Amino acid sequence: MSKIARRTFIQLSAAASAGAFLHTSREAVAQDLPQVDESSPAAQALKYVHDASAVDPATRPKDDAEQNCANCMFIQGADDAEWRPCTLFPNQVVASAGWCSAWALKP
Ligand code: SF4
Repeated sequence: MSKIARRTFIQLSAAASAGAFLHTSREAVAQDLPQVDESSPAAQALKYVHDASAVDPATRPKDDAEQNCANCMFIQGADDAEWRPCTLFPNQVVASAGWCSAWALKP
């Protein structure tokens, strides 16, 4: 391996390691956040629940068929995580299977 190829390999390896570290750090932060308390004033105001299937579809402001936090535009974090940050509930996590009245389909 030439010196240039070796240097490029080392630089790419360092960049890949940094990316993996940042991804892992975000995951760790999300796992450390408390779950939204369904009985909290903020959750009550938005009618948040951990289980979207418990919500009567007739009471939802929007009539899209499948509504849950996992397909909402406000969800953050890893797609496969059970609990994820939401921009409407700062410093907490919501259930991917949850729902609230601010739900809007992820574009
Ligand atoms: Fe879930 Fe979206 Fe409501 Fe956040 S805004 S709690 S992701 S439905």
